[in-house]
Amino acid sequence: MPEPEILAGKVAIVTGGTRGIGLAIARRLRAAGAIVTVCGRNAGTIEGLDVVACDVRDAEAVRAMVDAVAARHGRIDILVNNAGGSPDAPLGTSSPRLAERVVALNLMAPIFLAQAAYPHMQAGGAAIVNIASVSAQRPSPGTAAYSAAKAGLIALGRSLAHEWGPAIRVNAIVVGYIETEATEATYGDAAHQAAIAGNIGLARLGRADEIAEAALFLASPASSYVTGAALEVHGGGERPPFLDILKEHSA
Ligand code: NDP
Repeated sequence: MPEPEILAGKVAIVTGGTRGIGLAIARRLRAAGAIVTVCGRNAGTIEGLDVVACDVRDAEAVRAMVDAVAARHGRIDILVNNAGGSPDAPLGTSSPRLAERVVALNLMAPIFLAQAAYPHMQAGGAAIVNIASVSAQRPSPGTAAYSAAKAGLIALGRSLAHEWGPAIRVNAIVVGYIETEATEATYGDAAHQAAIAGNIGLARLGRADEIAEAALFLASPASSYVTGAALEVHGGGERPPFLDILKEHSA
């Protein structure tokens, strides 16, 4: 029996939906029946998706993109703020400009997107899904500005849930360590990845399609009483290192 299309006819935007986690989310929403537009700084063609070029740090470009989607499809039902990331850059030795760019991508851009989408999301049943990170919830030396921005993104959702409810629900996904095309660059070679995985509750890295399932849940009526929440999809997170230190010392 074919899967029922829980998002049939819904209009969705997924930022950073041209690869990685964003592409998995866009494809999942599409498979559930949504009409999906994705954006990256670089466009291209992806079967089944409308792909547009838009640097989400540019508020004017964001508004033009969102207005164009709304003009074409009549409204916006789902916004997934996924574009994000950060280089490893200790704050004490990197420039204010770099910190500003990291916050621009991971916090200001989702704010610009949400503001631009707001007038088009008033039909009821709309949802914003913000892609956050475990970095928001634990110390993240080397990516402090990213950590602060992602924590801000979770806080943003808590407040907007009240400002914009009941018409729009706003939630975050606290993303753990996920395999993408960029896994080696982020988590090292296979040996490093295995060591990292050994410390995670579910003993493996996550997959982009597992984040996509959570995004589908938060974007769909299946989560109709969930707003202002942060859903942890991190395989249980990491075992605290002090336990191993204690074990070593008591051996
Ligand atoms: P990728 O680097 O694989 O993909 C990033 C996407 O965002 C691309 O489509 C890229 O396209 C787009 N993008 C980047 N900068 C901009 C910009 N300024 N304007 C518009 N689009 C942009 O990212 P991941 O899939 O790894 O991560 C997706 C999200 O998940 C991010 O928010 C990240 O912080 C979060 N996350 C990821 C984790 C992981 O393990 N992968 C862990 C925790 C959180 P283009 O280059 O063409 O602009």
